Amino acid sequence: MTYSYACVDSSVAGSKVNRTIGKAGDFLRDIAVDEKNVTDKVQNEYGEAFHKDAIETGTFKLLDDAAIQSYLDKALKELLDVRTAPSAIDYKIYALNDTTVNAFTFGGRIYITKAMYDRCKNRPALLYAIIGHEIGHSEKGHIKKTIQELMLHNKIFGEENGTAVFQIKKLLTGSFNQKNELEADYYGTDLSYALNQDICAAVVFWKEMAALENRYSQLEDFFRSHPFSSLRAECLESHIKTNFQRSCGK
Ligand SMILES: [Zn+2]
Repeated sequence: MTYSYACVDSSVAGSKVNRTIGKAGDFLRDIAVDEKNVTDKVQNEYGEAFHKDAIETGTFKLLDDAAIQSYLDKALKELLDVRTAPSAIDYKIYALNDTTVNAFTFGGRIYITKAMYDRCKNRPALLYAIIGHEIGHSEKGHIKKTIQELMLHNKIFGEENGTAVFQIKKLLTGSFNQKNELEADYYGTDLSYALNQDICAAVVFWKEMAALENRYSQLEDFFRSHPFSSLRAECLESHIKTNFQRSCGK
């Protein structure tokens, strides 16, 4: 499997300024890496604490729908089962009663809003791609880095504002760079391919999102954490062509 990020580097998003900012971020992350070893077990503990806090404070409202839950559980299990070299991260998936189109993850907990679920209606392959993407953030070590940043932050600013939900949410929406997002996209595609799902579904989705950008403010949150829709569609399309010899074009 070849993961190429040339599509980002050659674009406006890969401008010199952005690359420099990206490098500064990587440098900070590298300092954090040395601070503590975030094992899969530690990630599970952070995920559990985050979830408990988010529910207790009412930040997240779980969707009470047994049919949706069992569908999500089934998709998650199938995707996890086709991982190569799986981590020991303990995964759980939840549907949130939320009207913004969003999906995110922390410490093995995957959250998908009802609005996002509805967007996947009659498009199971898209749901698989999105869940696979979120699994990728954990399996590829992005969440580990988020936790390391959190630890570094706590070290500098003190523990009292430590693992508050708002802080983690801020990290999650701001800290993944475009390369992380692409890597998660590629990872999700690879899992979907192993399950014989339509791997072009995500390309179609990102093209749709690119067309919608700037038109619907309710999608804003999702774009902040998952930016550059049209570029993403292009990169993913090229990943699919290179690795699976399939063209997603019309
Ligand atoms: Zn993401």
